[in-house]
Amino acid sequence: MSEKDRVYVAACGVCCSTCRLFVKGICLPCGSGLPKDRDVVEKKMAEQMKNLGKICSKLQCVVDKDIGYCMRDCKEFPCKIYKETMFPYSESFLNMYERRNK
Ligand code: SF4
Ligand code: SF4
Repeated sequence: MSEKDRVYVAACGVCCSTCRLFVKGICLPCGSGLPKDRDVVEKKMAEQMKNLGKICSKLQCVVDKDIGYCMRDCKEFPCKIYKETMFPYSESFLNMYERRNK
């Protein structure tokens, strides 16, 4: 697969490939905690440190846990980090997820 065809899905589940900020080159794509995304995540973390002075807590967490995606791979989702930041999901989405994920 060429770089052009690569689909970027972030640890939080956002699909960067479908975002105009990515398409226009305004924002670097994000990735998962999987080895296949290591290059993307390293660049994303460097961009965040430069622009925000910190790394996304969700992205750092999947890397530390050595897992791919929060919703798919972590039994703690929606964890304290999501509930405290309310980003990128709303309270109603997180409540719906908890209600249905029994
Ligand atoms: S919230 Fe974190 S994991 Fe999701 S796209 Fe942004 S930087 Fe990546
Ligand atoms: S604890 Fe939260 S941020 Fe960390 S991997 Fe699990 S759902 Fe994602």
